[in-house]
Amino acid sequence: MLIVAIKKTKRGIKRRNSPKAKTRLSPNGTRLAEAAACLAEIGKGFHARGWVLGTSGNFSAVISREPLRLAITSTGLDKGSLTPAQFLEMDEAANVVRGDGRPSAEALLHLAIAGRVDAGAVLHTHSVWSTVLSGSHASQGGIALEGYEMLKGLEGVRTHKHREWLPILENSQDMVELGERVSKTLRDSPGIHGFLLREHGLYTWGAGLQEAKRHVEILEFLMEVLVRSGAAQSA
Ligand SMILES: [Zn+2]
Repeated sequence: MLIVAIKKTKRGIKRRNSPKAKTRLSPNGTRLAEAAACLAEIGKGFHARGWVLGTSGNFSAVISREPLRLAITSTGLDKGSLTPAQFLEMDEAANVVRGDGRPSAEALLHLAIAGRVDAGAVLHTHSVWSTVLSGSHASQGGIALEGYEMLKGLEGVRTHKHREWLPILENSQDMVELGERVSKTLRDSPGIHGFLLREHGLYTWGAGLQEAKRHVEILEFLMEVLVRSGAAQSA
């Protein structure tokens, strides 16, 4: 009797109670849709700030840890008009397991970070500030951020006296080789919140999407301060 009653109700109710419908709603499919909706909004916000102009930058979120599955931007997209449908689910070897298109060329870097620091989300921007600083400080191997109140926006930081080291890695188009250097940097510098690729951009991450987004905002703010204060001093 119950089945008949359900069938006579509206389509949505029937779907929720149907065993068939349950098999369609896989956990990863749901998580991909949720992550994609959040990442698309974050991406549009970053584009509005000028941090991911053109088709630059890419964003990912872990939707499964065992086995590792990431929601990630498809390649070559304008980040100012991202939609949830433009995100893919990929496995630990960057193979697409759900969605249309190809993952970003830098997918291997996202996988290296997600696997190494237990991040729930990885965000990558190409701002003017990171491009300038990663070039001007490349010979020092990184940038020390110290004395700024905004440092307290980084997870675990409690005081402006904290010294945040932002390593700079030489850029490369060989993502396998670069991914290995990223892994090594993360292993050798525990506790960092991000790194720069020389004259390329910023990578940062967080336990979840909102934490990763906050880290982009904090690090981009501090890099902008460094560039603008340097320009002010030399004026
Ligand atoms: Zn990039």
